[in-house]
Amino acid sequence: MIRCTAARVDLDALASNFRVIQAHLASEALLNRAAGAGVSRAPGIIAVVKANAYGHGARPVARVLEDAGAVMLAVADIEEGVDLREAGIRAPILVFGALSVSDVSGVFDYRLTPTISSPAAGRALQAAAAERGVTLGYHLKIDTGLNRLGFRHDNLSRTLPELLASAHLRLEAVHTHFGTADDPESPLFEEQRRRFEAACLVVNDLGGGPRLRHAASSAALVRDSRVWYDFVRPGLLLYGLVPPPLHTMLALRPVMSLSSRVVAVKGVRVGEPVGYGARFTAERPTSLAIVPAGYADGLDRRLEGRGVVLVRGRRAPIVGAVSMDVLTVDVTEIAEVNPGDDVVFLGAQGEESWQRIDAREMASWTGTIPYEILCRLGARVQRLY
Ligand SMILES: *Cc1c(COP(=O)(O)O)cnc(C)c1O
Repeated sequence: MIRCTAARVDLDALASNFRVIQAHLASEALLNRAAGAGVSRAPGIIAVVKANAYGHGARPVARVLEDAGAVMLAVADIEEGVDLREAGIRAPILVFGALSVSDVSGVFDYRLTPTISSPAAGRALQAAAAERGVTLGYHLKIDTGLNRLGFRHDNLSRTLPELLASAHLRLEAVHTHFGTADDPESPLFEEQRRRFEAACLVVNDLGGGPRLRHAASSAALVRDSRVWYDFVRPGLLLYGLVPPPLHTMLALRPVMSLSSRVVAVKGVRVGEPVGYGARFTAERPTSLAIVPAGYADGLDRRLEGRGVVLVRGRRAPIVGAVSMDVLTVDVTEIAEVNPGDDVVFLGAQGEESWQRIDAREMASWTGTIPYEILCRLGARVQRLY
């Protein structure tokens, strides 16, 4: 059985986005080589599938990206990594999150690659690796200005020697994360780039050796090939969206669409209120389509009066409160709306640009970002692949 409100996850679009990004990396690298600047070898792709692959479903998404040729998959925590291994994923899996207070046995039992972002995490993993008599490869995270996780870039000579001396740990790569890659005006991006490159030299001097480097999430990938280094780490781009306000010429396709169906059409007279709180009052004889989707499905209450859906190829405003399981759409201006008609929240209903809604546009209505729109999609919304 399939509920009216369901998400369709287009795995062909996902594979196509991967190939488009891969081709872009290769052609830019070729151009750079000719010009003698920037990266001259196409970086590998670490495909980010954390948070249930941004709401798309981690297991099927990871399978497609593994087959497409991702050099590594990345998740937020050990639990997400274990889930992928249990699904049969064999590609290397990088765990981004801090592990200082986690049970780290999953790292060993499921062959995950940890990020070490603090001396405490380094000690915990060294002890656990020693106890098992194994050597564990890890990625080192440098904090170059986001001021969240990672070893501060400016006192590595104090904090790193103990980690680098750990007999059971092997440094494989060094990485950082940008705070303002999506803001072309911010000087912090360039500052972080310089700090990262300086930090990599310090790691080298401290005996860490020249290691693989990575730094670029989607925004940085789109914006500046100088920070591609050995690997890039796109998430959002793979799902077919560019982090706002950036744009790209890449032919990406949104992977997720979300739709429902009209379950009833109701006439409302002038002056009659609609929905919880009576916040919408009909100012003309109004025709409402009742749609069985609400905030329990991840649709934001702030869509009331701001968002639209597609019905019969037209845009229709969401009016009245978005409730838990139901919302109402004003279809007065659309002829012949009937129960059973498709209602598109994300996706297309025709070829015109206004007949298409993506998570980036939906995010703009409520003042959030497309990431949140995708991740918030409710657990009860079935994903159809
Ligand atoms: C989530 C995440 C990414 C991917 O970010 P996008 O903006 O979705 O490309 C890359 N690196 C790190 C460390 C992350 O946490």
